[in-house]
Amino acid sequence: MKPTCPSCQNKINSTDIINTNKKGIFIEKQCPSCLEWFGLNKTLEVLKTAGISLLLITSLLNIFSIKSEYSSIFSTVGFAEIFIAMLITFFSKHEEIK
Ligand SMILES: [Zn+2]
Repeated sequence: MKPTCPSCQNKINSTDIINTNKKGIFIEKQCPSCLEWFGLNKTLEVLKTAGISLLLITSLLNIFSIKSEYSSIFSTVGFAEIFIAMLITFFSKHEEIK
């Protein structure tokens, strides 16, 4: 999926992005046409990272059969987290960085 620049509304090829700026878990990108910086909504980015971390933890608990009496709960939580992370990845909008 091509991101749309929130400033000039151009579709941007990820290969055209020359400048990126990593700030912790947040990645800012520079639009090649208007040179504005943009990035994913920070709240969504945090949610996504939290979801993936949680998924990792629940998977590890399942693999090592820790608290195996809860394994179906872990699987359900893990599945929900994949779903949320996917939704965020596909539908989140980029916004300008002021
Ligand atoms: Zn732009």
